[in-house]
Amino acid sequence: MSRNIDYTFKILMLGSASTGKSSLSDRYVHGIFSEDIKLTVGVEFFVKTIEYQGKRIKLQLWDLGGESRFRFLLPTYCLGSSGAIFLFDLTRPETLLALDKWIGIVKEKNSGVPILLVGNKNDLDNERKIPVDHGIQIALQNGLVEYIEASAKSGDNVEFLFQKITEYMLKRAAILKLQ
Ligand code: GDP
Ligand code: MG
Repeated sequence: MSRNIDYTFKILMLGSASTGKSSLSDRYVHGIFSEDIKLTVGVEFFVKTIEYQGKRIKLQLWDLGGESRFRFLLPTYCLGSSGAIFLFDLTRPETLLALDKWIGIVKEKNSGVPILLVGNKNDLDNERKIPVDHGIQIALQNGLVEYIEASAKSGDNVEFLFQKITEYMLKRAAILKLQ
């Protein structure tokens, strides 16, 4: 018999184009990495139900495409989210530039939700342009909960990072219940 869901969490997958938002979602939810993943148009959804700390939790990943004609929808997408993952590409420093804008939108729509900073593509170690220390510093400066480096391609740290954000979302849900 299937047990009830204790929590449903909406997680925003944020970041510039081609940072690996769809690949990371696909890797986590379906356990695969496809080199020829399609460009995301509008928004795509990935859903995974997990057991964590004795709770049954449904994670809904909102994977936002970067097309400018959908940009006006972004603040609406952010409504009611429980957490966000901001991805950048470790080989392309310019993918960090969008961080301010995204954090601003998320905080305006849902104050206090945990935002995790993820440096993706750590399999491309020879092409890395951002050192670990820099990522940690950016996370601290912007009040993000943690900095994690990962690879949608190799799968490195993928389970771990979703576990981390789930941990923070559970903590926040417990605090909100007390209020
Ligand atoms: P999105 O636009 O943020 O959704 O990015 P995609 O998931 O479409 O990925 C953009 C490109 O980066 C694709 O060619 C992916 O195959 C590639 N990619 C995504 N994640 C990784 C990774 O961890 N390592 C490497 N080497 N390539 C990746
Ligand atoms: Mg995509």
